[in-house]
Amino acid sequence: MDYPGRLRRLSAQLVSPQEVSRQVDALLVTHLPNVRYLTGFTGSAAVLLASAKPMFFTDGRYREQAAQQVRGAKVVIPRGNALSAAVKACQAQRITRLGVEADRMSVSQFQTLRRELGKSVEIVPLVGVVEALRAVKDPAEIKLIRQAVELSSGLFPALLKALKPGQTELSAAARLEYLARQAGAEAMSFETIIASGKRSALPHGVASPARLPARGFVVLDYGVVTQGYCSDMTRTIHLGRATARERAVYAAVLEAQLAGINALRPGATCGQVDEAARRVLRRAGLAKFFTHSTGHGVGLEIHEPPRLGARGEAVLEAGMVVTVEPGAYLPGRYGVRIEDMVLVTATGAEVLTPVGKALTELL
Ligand code: ZN
Ligand code: ZN
Repeated sequence: MDYPGRLRRLSAQLVSPQEVSRQVDALLVTHLPNVRYLTGFTGSAAVLLASAKPMFFTDGRYREQAAQQVRGAKVVIPRGNALSAAVKACQAQRITRLGVEADRMSVSQFQTLRRELGKSVEIVPLVGVVEALRAVKDPAEIKLIRQAVELSSGLFPALLKALKPGQTELSAAARLEYLARQAGAEAMSFETIIASGKRSALPHGVASPARLPARGFVVLDYGVVTQGYCSDMTRTIHLGRATARERAVYAAVLEAQLAGINALRPGATCGQVDEAARRVLRRAGLAKFFTHSTGHGVGLEIHEPPRLGARGEAVLEAGMVVTVEPGAYLPGRYGVRIEDMVLVTATGAEVLTPVGKALTELL
């Protein structure tokens, strides 16, 4: 990974942003995935002062790891806390306008900064600066994302085998997660969702002690982390024969998902993609049951920009990796969601998730 290059691109953004009011001498990076993106550090405690002379602060536990991993920034292991050390570095570098990650900092961290920086340094709250860089993946990242998608997709047949009426959702999740680790996953990218029967109407129904019914939908939404990168996919299968109405709902969600994928291309706005999917469900009379946005970026974090939501104005660019995951949730009855990961290419989009989407009935 080209960490020094990323730091340079960030610097350019800080010095000449689109809005002059966002211009700063340096950004204090406190969100760990952003620290990782910019330096390669994978530990659980660090602060990065992204300035003309980037400095990385962690604690004694990470002396060895930081020396091995961090590229493009000077590593400092202070005696006291990392934030206070970063303040001293700001003063030494004569920084007068310091950007902070406004949505990635605690009140007490902010108070420490305010107190220790004194009046000569202006704190400028910024949101999403590093995240905007992260939204467009470089080829090395796309390769890692493909690996994560392949690993998780490869587990799908075994997950289907673990779905037996009478078994709990948790036991199916346990089987999946065991196999994921065996196959090399560092972690699941979020709490596995296995939502069966009426629970399939819960858009975020994490696996529970509920027993799989003899017939009904099961929403399966999971992903893995490999080399720091996340995957995310959803399939909805049916235990036993689906009714005509259930099939129609499934078909509408699938058509909406394909319409969303079709709308993905460089230059399209997030809102246009969302609308393409939502329009299909509206025509099917299901719009009011589609209660979330159509998709989200995926990378070092499971949810990251861009968000494919209604009226989203962000413009898609080649290299973005997003999910397309419309759903319909009929309260108290059942729900269906279908989700792929998709790479925005120079000319359109490439679906990364190789698992088939025709309705599967487990008889
Ligand atoms: Zn998902
Ligand atoms: Zn998702």
